[in-house]
Amino acid sequence: MRPITEAYKDFPILQKEHNGHRLVYLDSGATTQIPQMVISRLTDHMLHHNGNPHRGSHILAIEASEAYENARDRVVEFINAREREEVIFTRNTTESMNLIAHSYGANFLSEGDKIVITVAEHHANLVTWQYVAEKTGATLEYMYLDDSGHLKDGEIDKIDESTKIVAFAHVSNVLGMEFPVKDLIAKAHSVGAVVVLDGAQSTPHMKVDVQALDCDFFVFSGHKMCASQGIGVVYGKRALLEKMPPFLLGGDMIEYVKEQSTTFNELPYKFEAGTPNAHGAVSLHAAIDYLESFGMDAIEAHEESLVSYVLPKMLEIPHVQVLGSSNPREKHGVIAFTIDDVHPHDVATILDSKGICVRSGHHCAQPLGAFFKVAASTRLSMYLYTRKEDLDAFLEVLKTVRSVMG
Ligand code: PLP
Repeated sequence: MRPITEAYKDFPILQKEHNGHRLVYLDSGATTQIPQMVISRLTDHMLHHNGNPHRGSHILAIEASEAYENARDRVVEFINAREREEVIFTRNTTESMNLIAHSYGANFLSEGDKIVITVAEHHANLVTWQYVAEKTGATLEYMYLDDSGHLKDGEIDKIDESTKIVAFAHVSNVLGMEFPVKDLIAKAHSVGAVVVLDGAQSTPHMKVDVQALDCDFFVFSGHKMCASQGIGVVYGKRALLEKMPPFLLGGDMIEYVKEQSTTFNELPYKFEAGTPNAHGAVSLHAAIDYLESFGMDAIEAHEESLVSYVLPKMLEIPHVQVLGSSNPREKHGVIAFTIDDVHPHDVATILDSKGICVRSGHHCAQPLGAFFKVAASTRLSMYLYTRKEDLDAFLEVLKTVRSVMG
């Protein structure tokens, strides 16, 4: 295994300067940076193996098919899926959620059924279920949180005999906290509900084992784990995927087409209509190799040590309020905060003027903001290339924000 403290050297973009300052990238929850190794593997593919997967019998079509399918096998291994038929490539977590909502939710739910989600969900795992509820007559119910971001006592009992779907983030993109995933999945399965786990903020940061989790669906995005943008994954248990109709229609998802009817391709191709993002898949394969050269456990431990370093220091600064738990051990590399009387966009702009990239806004989780009565916040989010000196630079500027605002 390589030492994680060396990781930052692998990212050419981190050499960039902005406003005369070294660039400090603390927005990895939005998208991560790409190491040279992934760029080189993708460049090699484009230079030497570029073709349209599954289309054509010439050398480049064959090599592109191999690269694409090898990437699928790498994902299968990475998340410990049972079989390759259970791993479908999409564009991102959002498209993955839409696939599940349209193909499973809209077809297998009906009036009287219940969908249970948490109030902390990203819009990708929320608007999709509003759509399914409206389409099918099912109801959408929320599990609420206490002030420190934990599920309130008893909320889990909203999962009852009428519940058909339980969907929640493995790790929240605002609170950085993991929900009680084992309890929620056990409860959902005890009433026969299907569990959809949003792994967008967990897969990049910790070891994920979909069989051990026993979730029914699991989704994530490549661009949040050092791959290029435009590649995502749906894992689904085979029995569910088999009975679901295709989400998108067109080339490659068919077995045979007649003028008036079509038989669909087998899994996973039934869900992959049109030319796939083979470049994205190649970059995801390389990104998994890259992350595993350090080890997912080492990445998780590194982020925990960074949060343990920065969070108490943030809380010492007057007027800084952290959303959710202030226990560093409960935050997976993500800290959202507010500063009294300063708009989060101003906080982010002041930080940017010193070369520090953070996110501000509602973080695509408006119901959570409304619940906490915080319409917007600023968020720093870390990854394996983040260093203590990045956090020192951030803290230095953070201390001055209120005085800069006058
Ligand atoms: N779910 C969570 C928890 C996220 O953090 C994000 C992105 O920030 C998404 C879903 C949507 O991911 P994407 O924009 O890659 O589709």
